Amino acid sequence: MGKQEKLDSLNKKWVRDCTCALRGTATQAVLGSGSANAETLFIGEAPGKKEDAQGIPFIGSAGKFLNELLTSIQLRREDIYITNAVKYRPPENRDPLPDEIAACRDWLIEEIRIINPQIIIPLGRHAMNHFLPDEKISEAHGRIFQIPIDGLGMKKILPLYHPAAALYNGSLRATLIQDFKKIPETLHG
Ligand code: URA
Repeated sequence: MGKQEKLDSLNKKWVRDCTCALRGTATQAVLGSGSANAETLFIGEAPGKKEDAQGIPFIGSAGKFLNELLTSIQLRREDIYITNAVKYRPPENRDPLPDEIAACRDWLIEEIRIINPQIIIPLGRHAMNHFLPDEKISEAHGRIFQIPIDGLGMKKILPLYHPAAALYNGSLRATLIQDFKKIPETLHG
């Protein structure tokens, strides 16, 4: 079975079985999207309103900025894979609760295992704390860490600020543009 087929069957299973309480209020599950063969895997926090309506991650204003950031390092959305730690939209875009994050956790880990990327890029504090629970995003952003992922051994992880945070804070915008340059440096030595 190819990676895309494995992802399709994983998503089918989880859409049926996920116990996340957010299923009761969300329109639909927002599945990961992009290339199953990607070297770079981005992880957001949870879908917003537009994502919930269309079932596609990062298509709102944060997604537009993310596309600009990708262009700045000559990557396209088709070159990367992008998913969220929580697959269902929290009401009014509130932060996902620990139980909601926990309910989708194995879904995310299985996605990572299938894709087996060279770098994992959590966007923002919540996605980062999944893997690096004791780090602060203000200190960890733009730095490469190594973490064990079951079945894959040690993997590189590069936490970055969430693009939505940069929409409201101009200095974070410059920081994100700078931090993004670490991606090709890490991929290509
Ligand atoms: N913010 C996220 O974290 N994920 C999305 O899919 C959209 C906005």
